[in-house]
Amino acid sequence: MASIDIAHERNATATADASARPHLAGLTRPLLMEALKQFGLPDNQLRMRAGQIWNGLYNRGFTDFERMTTLSKELRGKLAEAFDISRLEIVTEQKSVDGTRKWLLRLPSGIPGVPGPEVETVYIPEEGRGTLCVSSQVGCTLTCTFCHTGTQKLVRNLTAGEIVGQILVARDALGEWPDGGRNSEDRLITNIVMMGMGEPLYNFENVRDALEVVSDGEGLSLSKRRITLSTSGVVPMIERAGDEIDCMLAISLHAVDDETRNKLVPLNKKYPIAELLEACRNYPGVSNARRITFEYVMLKGVNDSLEDAKALVRLLKHIPAKINLIPFNPWPGSPYECSDWEQIEKFADVVNRAGYASPVRTPRGRDIMAACGQLKSETVKARASERFKEARADA
Ligand code: SAH
Ligand code: SF4
Repeated sequence: MASIDIAHERNATATADASARPHLAGLTRPLLMEALKQFGLPDNQLRMRAGQIWNGLYNRGFTDFERMTTLSKELRGKLAEAFDISRLEIVTEQKSVDGTRKWLLRLPSGIPGVPGPEVETVYIPEEGRGTLCVSSQVGCTLTCTFCHTGTQKLVRNLTAGEIVGQILVARDALGEWPDGGRNSEDRLITNIVMMGMGEPLYNFENVRDALEVVSDGEGLSLSKRRITLSTSGVVPMIERAGDEIDCMLAISLHAVDDETRNKLVPLNKKYPIAELLEACRNYPGVSNARRITFEYVMLKGVNDSLEDAKALVRLLKHIPAKINLIPFNPWPGSPYECSDWEQIEKFADVVNRAGYASPVRTPRGRDIMAACGQLKSETVKARASERFKEARADA
C-alpha cells in the first residue's frame, strides 16, 4: 500500500531546546499551584492564577504566555522568563492512505547542543470516534519478541508533560482548538490509548499524573472511560493503577499457556498467567459495564489454533472481559508471521460463539508503520545508516 508521505524534516538535525525553564504542561493542579507558589505568587492568588493558566494551556492551546490576556502584562512577562509552555518538536509527520497520522516527536535532551530522543504518537480516525495512541517511554525494558519497540532498549521514561504534550501536538495538527473553528462538542480526539512505545506501568507516576491532567473536566476533559492503559502484565502495579488512575485496562495476554507466553512476553516468567488473571479479577472498578480488554496478537502457528481459542474463552470465563484479536503487524526482521485470515476468522468464531462481540481489530496505518507494535520508527534505522555513511566518509 502506498502512503501519502507528508513528512517534512522540520529541524530534524537542529539541536534540542535545552531550556532550563521548567515546563508547566503535565503538572497536576496541586503541582501547578506549588510551582506558582515557588515562583512567588501570594497564596490567595494561587488557585485563580492556576485556573487561568490551565485554561490557556488546555482549552485554548496557547504556547505563549502573551496570549493569556486574563493575566496582567507584567505577570505574563515574568511567567515567560520562569516557565516553558512550548510544544514538543515535530520531526516528521506522516499520513496513511487510511487517514491514520503519525508524528515523530523529539523530546528535550536537557543538554545544550545534544538532540533529544524521539517518540511516536499515532492518531486513528474511525466512524464516530478518533483515538490517539500515546507513548509512555522511549524504548522499553521489556523484550516481547513480536514487538518492534521491544528491540529498542529503554532510553528514558517520558515526563508527565511529555505524555500530555503528545496530545497537545495532535490537537494542534488536527486543528482541534476552539480558535481552529471547531466547537467543543465536535471532537476529533475522543479516546486515548496508552499503547504507543513503552510499558506505562513502569512509568507509573508520570502516566498517572498525565492522565489526571488529561481527564480534568475543566481542561482536555477526556473521561477516564475513554482512556485505556495497556500493560504487558506488571502484576504488582495493576491494583495501584485501578486505585490511583482508574481508567480502562487492557492486558496484552497473547497466549493461553505459560510456556508460550514466556516466549512471547518474557515478563510472564516473573508474573505468570494465573497471577495476572487474579490481578484482573481484583482490578478495582472492574464490572460488566467496565470490562477489561484482553489483547491477543495472532501469530501463525504459535498461538492461533482453535484449541488456543477455546482455552482463551475458558481462561477468561469469570472475568468481565472483552477480547481484541490483533492481526500481527510485521516489521523489518520480525521473527513471526501473521496468522492466515481464514484462521483468524475461525479463531474469532470460537470467541464470538462464547459471547464476545466483534473481536478482530482492523490494522490501521500499516503503510506508515503506525500499527500496533510497529513503533520504534524507521527513523532510528535511517539515522543509524546515516551515521554509518558519515563514519565511512570520515574514514
Ligand atoms: N507495553 C504495553 C503497551 C504498548 S504495546 C503493552 O505491551 O501492553 C500496545 C499493544 O500492541 C500491546 O497489546 C502489544 O502486545 C501489541 N503489539 C506489540 N507489537 C505488535 C505487533 N507487531 N503486532 C500487533 N500487535 C503488537
Ligand atoms: Fe514493551 Fe509492550 Fe512492546 Fe512488550 S509489547 S516490548 S511491553 S511496548
